[in-house]
Amino acid sequence: MKAPSPWLTRFATDRRRPTPFTAFDIGEALAAYERLVAAFEGRARVQYAVKARPDQALLTTLVRRGSALDVASPGEIQQALDARCPPEDIACSNVFADARELAFARDNGVMVFTADSTAMVERLAAVCPGASVFVRVAHEHTAGAAQPLTGRFGCSENEAVQLALLAARSGLRLAGLSWHVGSQQHDPAQWERAIARAARITRRIRCHGMTVEHLNLGGGLPGTYRTSVPPAEAYARIILTAVDRHFPHPHQPHLVLEPGRAVVADAGITITSVKAVVDRPCGTYVVLDAGLYNAGLLDNLGGIEYRVTFPGHPEGVATRPVTLCGPTCDSLDTFTADNVYHAPLALAPGDRGVIWSTGAYCSTSTLVGFNGYPPVPQHLHAPRSDVADRLPEQPKKS
Ligand SMILES: *Cc1c(COP(=O)(O)O)cnc(C)c1O
Repeated sequence: MKAPSPWLTRFATDRRRPTPFTAFDIGEALAAYERLVAAFEGRARVQYAVKARPDQALLTTLVRRGSALDVASPGEIQQALDARCPPEDIACSNVFADARELAFARDNGVMVFTADSTAMVERLAAVCPGASVFVRVAHEHTAGAAQPLTGRFGCSENEAVQLALLAARSGLRLAGLSWHVGSQQHDPAQWERAIARAARITRRIRCHGMTVEHLNLGGGLPGTYRTSVPPAEAYARIILTAVDRHFPHPHQPHLVLEPGRAVVADAGITITSVKAVVDRPCGTYVVLDAGLYNAGLLDNLGGIEYRVTFPGHPEGVATRPVTLCGPTCDSLDTFTADNVYHAPLALAPGDRGVIWSTGAYCSTSTLVGFNGYPPVPQHLHAPRSDVADRLPEQPKKS
């Protein structure tokens, strides 16, 4: 685990500011973005998934650095445009977008979409004639992912070939193939499977005289939570090796990487205070003033276990197993954990806690006022714009 930025460290240890609150360092997100671009040797165009964290300043910074944006709705299209993202760098990957949503995209110059059904291809052909379409293939292996995206999304290999043909017949342009191996994917080998499958589909599509120009590798790259994960470089090596093996020159498609979590997760922390430590017959409960509802930690219900530390207590002090809870009186407001949390024996009400890597999927999933607790305030730190401007530009691919 690399050290957090000095700015985040200052928040983590600042005892004057009232809790709970979240601090998010855009500079850290930019560094994570740069690290991904470098790990993939500039061979993958990064298309940040806006839903992970849609702050205007963050989007503007990423766009200025050359990132494309992945969006799902008119609201996110507007956020992307407000961040000065050129419409041709905005891709709408919502396979259930309806005619009204597609018309909004079209009217704003967004013409790259994703489909995994006949109905969606037909809707696209009707509303957005001439648009580019990715065919999304199902990734039915649940292994390795905290949040598999199986079932609801993606079609079979056979259907993918059929949809590519249908798209071409309907006047759409086949952009390529896409998939998502599941969020917080611990196992890089899942991409090998997906790439081998894409190569099989591509060979069949080529038999019909069509080309697969792009492979969208999806999201799924991990953030830093309680279970350790391989570094970004390990994912990149395995993915690029698989692409080279299954798509030998001169048939290499352009690569698109669609990270959400991996760009923003580690750039945010949530500062909390202990409200109570209660011993019950079934164990000890530590009640925090930030929880699933007011701090938007809903990912915990999807298998994400946040790291929680108590900076007032030195490392190595005696601890005991505890159950961590948020401030509401709802039973779901509990940090479910496969590996039980431990807290210092001396932990007491008023002590500060830091919930790490809360940069992804939290800022827009706080519930507004459940049980009377307002969403935690978000403090954003943007790097000086001249610093961002001095960084070299990412080469843009077609
Ligand atoms: C949510 C989403 C992503 C981002 O996933 P992460 O696991 O956060 O990287 C990428 N692509 C699509 C289509 C998504 O829906």
